[in-house]
Amino acid sequence: MGGWFMPGFFMVIFVAAIIWLIFRRQPTPAPHGLSCPKCSGAIHATYFRCPHCGDTLKHNCPNCSRIIEHDWSYCPYCNESQSTNAESTGSS
Ligand SMILES: [Zn+2]
Ligand SMILES: [Zn+2]
Repeated sequence: MGGWFMPGFFMVIFVAAIIWLIFRRQPTPAPHGLSCPKCSGAIHATYFRCPHCGDTLKHNCPNCSRIIEHDWSYCPYCNESQSTNAESTGSS
């Protein structure tokens, strides 16, 4: 007696575990959504360098030495222009 109870009980546990995994997996993918502009690897907002390709993600402002993003054109702290790439090729 009760031979059907235990398989049914484990079946309920099994289904509940699957449902739990599905609902648990939803908030996990891409918690920040940040990716390296060079290799598209997953990076954190506080990373200075990409751990995958070593690309520089942040640098210090040459004027106020504060940490700014690598792709920022101007320093938001001192308004210093960051376009110091010296790309003077367009100077016709
Ligand atoms: Zn990278
Ligand atoms: Zn600055």
